[in-house]
Amino acid sequence: MAIERTFSIVKPDAVAKNLIGAIYSRFENAGLKIVASKMVHLSRAQAEGFYAEHKERPFFGALVDFMTSGPIMVQVLEGENAVLANREIMGATNPAEAARGTIRSDFANSIDENAVHGSDAVASAEREIAYFFTEEELCPRTR
Ligand code: UDP
Repeated sequence: MAIERTFSIVKPDAVAKNLIGAIYSRFENAGLKIVASKMVHLSRAQAEGFYAEHKERPFFGALVDFMTSGPIMVQVLEGENAVLANREIMGATNPAEAARGTIRSDFANSIDENAVHGSDAVASAEREIAYFFTEEELCPRTR
């Protein structure tokens, strides 16, 4: 199995509901290791840049409003098949369709306010990690 890194966000809705620890526990219980973490309050420019691929989507403005509405936690998770493993414990984008026991099923408000972000591929993970962290800020957990 490949050791991968993936990029994750605890979104403003979940931070506001004091769910940082509960969500970090889900990562750790799934065997994913947190190798970098910080709280940030995104500017509009930062949020627009991060979600640039969705610029033409009808929900883009609302998404930027939401992602800048309060602080978020950004983190890098490391582990076997981390990208897919994280997507599995997150659950589907729409919490109404997310499998029971997933983060979004248990904690998300709606498809717009859905508690977490997770990279969808290794390439996007690398881009998203570099958007928020320098190489020196990552702490490999080899032991
Ligand atoms: N989103 C939204 N409304 C929609 C679809 C998506 O607000 O109808 C937001 C939601 O926060 C989602 C993000 O846009 O997490 C990115 O959408 P994507 O389809 O990439 O879902 P994800 O990868 O987050 O599951």
